[in-house]
Amino acid sequence: MTVSVVLFTADLRLHDHPPLRAAAAAGDEIVPLFVLDRRVEEAGFAVPNRRAFLADCLRDLDAGLRDRGGRLVIRTGDVSEEVCRIAAETGARDVHMSGGASAYAHAREERLRTELESQGRRLHVHDGVVTAVAPGTVRPTGSAANHFAVFSPYFRRWSQERLRDPLAPPRAVRVPDTARSAELPSRAQVSGISPGLAEGGENAGRALFAAWRRSGLGSYDNQHDDLAGDATSRLSPHLHFGTVSPVELIERSRKAGGTGAEAFVRQLCWREFNYQVLAARPSASHENYRSREDDWRDEEEARHDIEAWREGRTGYPVVDAAMRQLRHEGWMHNRGRLLTASFLAKTLYVDWRIGARHFLDLLVDGDIANNQLNWQWVAGTGTDSRPNRVLNPVLQSHRYDPDGTYVRRWVPELAGIGGAAVHEPWRLPEPDRVALDYPAPVIHLPDALARFKLARGLR
Ligand code: FAD
Repeated sequence: MTVSVVLFTADLRLHDHPPLRAAAAAGDEIVPLFVLDRRVEEAGFAVPNRRAFLADCLRDLDAGLRDRGGRLVIRTGDVSEEVCRIAAETGARDVHMSGGASAYAHAREERLRTELESQGRRLHVHDGVVTAVAPGTVRPTGSAANHFAVFSPYFRRWSQERLRDPLAPPRAVRVPDTARSAELPSRAQVSGISPGLAEGGENAGRALFAAWRRSGLGSYDNQHDDLAGDATSRLSPHLHFGTVSPVELIERSRKAGGTGAEAFVRQLCWREFNYQVLAARPSASHENYRSREDDWRDEEEARHDIEAWREGRTGYPVVDAAMRQLRHEGWMHNRGRLLTASFLAKTLYVDWRIGARHFLDLLVDGDIANNQLNWQWVAGTGTDSRPNRVLNPVLQSHRYDPDGTYVRRWVPELAGIGGAAVHEPWRLPEPDRVALDYPAPVIHLPDALARFKLARGLR
């Protein structure tokens, strides 16, 4: 009897899962294992929205395995210790897992490999699961750089990589009786969840992609910036937890063809671009990728403005709408992320790390690579080739929410305001303005711009 362990990490699915397929091909019995990693908890990364979504994913994975005669095995603690323990308990010689994209994931793999080998067992790491193209595979030629710092050339090279065909899920999975499991976590055990949090799990992810491919993909290039239209895929939490496969998404979108699909695949590449930057420069999770010598405002002095931003009470309707969407759903439209991040880092001139932490506390797709590097991009300390551009929240509102539907949806105090005044309520006649329970702007935009230019040494 051959037993293999399949360690699930950021790949919580049965479709297109190379480690599971390899284990199924190699042996009779499989231990499908997920370890609730104590280190992730200790790092403060297991926030309620992601814990709840993860619980959905694990339950769905367990159900899918049970349909095939198996079950999911849950353990809590240190990943290496738990994998070694269960391998010893079940007599497994081989462990299969997906290659991770973060520095933490790489360190975890190395530790696991060393400990397994010291027991005479083997670790098999499969690439092309968490990302379609593993970080570090595509590197600049003719230069000493170990990663791409500019997106377009990365995208060109990434697009030329040959991807494998997506794999079908296994038909049957037999789990040894000796593999004991802790209880599956459940969403009901988690408190402090955003009321509009999406449902997790492979079934939900696949259904979302199928529906969106039919009705959203074709027009994605024209619609993705329309705040009220909400016409993006909303697949980011599923990509984060791996309930959908990036290879499958790319292959199916390419097959569908058209400019919408091309634009969508390009966005999927942004995700992988950020992973390869972070893999090469792990410090970019907390240090400026490129320093602009910023002397950010003192956190205590800026406290009132930071709180107004977090609470969605800055007095700039589109900023407040987006911040309230984040709190309500644990998710925010990309255009909202861009303009709220620019507002904090450039208009309020507050250190991007303070904003990034707040996003990570709430985002269900909250991801070190994509959150921190997008924050750096917006703050101008990252890979943006125009680091000093400042998004004007009034112009953004007129442009991406022209009839104010998004603002009215998320800022009920402004729901009754007709016309363009919804973007600039301070322009209302005094009695109407006073009657609103809505704050005056926390900052005068020309003053903010002048401060930013001075800080960055711009004319
Ligand atoms: P779609 O528009 O449907 O795009 C499809 C997929 O492409 C997304 O699910 C995502 O995986 C990827 N993608 C799209 N845009 C980007 C981008 N700019 N950078 C990287 N990947 C992208 N994305 C995260 O997944 N996690 C984060 O923590 C995160 N934090 C962000 C913070 C800021 C300040 C900004 C400006 C962006 C952030 N993004 C993050 C990127 C982007 O906003 C989200 O991926 C996107 O809004 C998710 O919605 P969607 O799935 O409908 O995207």
